[in-house]
Amino acid sequence: MSSRPTRADFDQYMVPNYSPQQVIPVRGEGSRLWDQDGREYIDFAGGIAVNALGHCHPVLVEALKSQADRLWHLSNVYTNEPALELARELTERTFADKVYLCSSGGEANEAALKLARRWAYDNHGEHKSRIISFSQSFHGRTFFTVSVGGQPKYSQGFGPVPGGIVHAEYNNLDSVRALIDDNTCAVMVEPIQGEGGILPATQEFLSGLRELCDQHDALLVFDEVQTGAGRTGSLYAYTDYGVTPDILTSAKGIGGGFPVGAMLTTDRVAPAMAIGTHGSTYGGNALASAVALAAVRFIDTPEVLGGANKRFELIREHLETINRKHGVFKEIRGKGLLVGAEMAPEYEGRAKDILPLAIEEGVMALVAGPNVLRLAPSLVIPEQDIVEGLERLERAIARMVSGQ
Ligand SMILES: *Cc1c(COP(=O)(O)O)cnc(C)c1O
Repeated sequence: MSSRPTRADFDQYMVPNYSPQQVIPVRGEGSRLWDQDGREYIDFAGGIAVNALGHCHPVLVEALKSQADRLWHLSNVYTNEPALELARELTERTFADKVYLCSSGGEANEAALKLARRWAYDNHGEHKSRIISFSQSFHGRTFFTVSVGGQPKYSQGFGPVPGGIVHAEYNNLDSVRALIDDNTCAVMVEPIQGEGGILPATQEFLSGLRELCDQHDALLVFDEVQTGAGRTGSLYAYTDYGVTPDILTSAKGIGGGFPVGAMLTTDRVAPAMAIGTHGSTYGGNALASAVALAAVRFIDTPEVLGGANKRFELIREHLETINRKHGVFKEIRGKGLLVGAEMAPEYEGRAKDILPLAIEEGVMALVAGPNVLRLAPSLVIPEQDIVEGLERLERAIARMVSGQ
């Protein structure tokens, strides 16, 4: 008989690219988790902004179980009903006319970047290949997406990076004006920089990017992998700004915990992804599509979306109260249930020190870079869990401040 897995097994059997916390959760329900010893935690991490409806939401469990008895996978040699329904649903609820399905955010962005390059190649010629993105941006871990991402530490040490990629400064239109011209095929941007520190774009910035892209016939690509699927209190954050992209990528919350990604685009752009240009064995997987379909239908309602905005106010008020007592934060920002608390200068770079203390106090949180504490709980987290979770978080913060 084999023994129960332990945290030490991670170091023994897994490649060392992660350093997970010491506890091993074994069960989740809503916004609560239980570890191997039966200790309970409140989950403000949400699987890194993935579990949009918490753990084991009955609507998603039902979608998964009923599809599990019917059909799991066919590849793209055949199509299937859940994938077609999901694609139709996404086009009906957004600007998009066409959808490409895949299994992760990185894959959705890889598809978006290849589509943009190919569209420009087909419609303008080989010279139109420059991609503009932004410092501190994050677009995934494939080699193309780390190259486009604005955090060099993720692309260094892997050999020559693909060419034709330049980085401008986020929320600085002049820095884009200096780089954009008729050889630019795409500008890729997160409406709120997630991994980069929960940094919202200004209205002027996104509207300006749209204008600049129109002037140079470049495609505007919104990476909504983190901001999408209701996270900011709208199905997609582009509607908050009234700025419509040519390509939008979605993953994380759209599967509610099941691996699925989607790239959305228009009839003008989609034809460049012609037969054979791109693909993925798992893209449009029936099980994944069935869960995502249920998630999108459940999330895109006034109750869930409006609830996310109400919860933001509650969380912000509590964090401000904590800050009045302990003075650890410089700014509390974000939208919906994507909340960032930037550390005050005295605690520069110490956001990650809060996480293990928070676990000891019974709450799971995240960071976004070294200097921002990030909370991305379930969109339907009960008020009681928010209040109790923030009490636990306050105890962790008090311990960090007092050095205990
Ligand atoms: C998480 C994230 C990605 C990468 O998604 P994966 O599913 O990890 O590949 C891409 N872009 C943004 C904005 C993200 O937050």
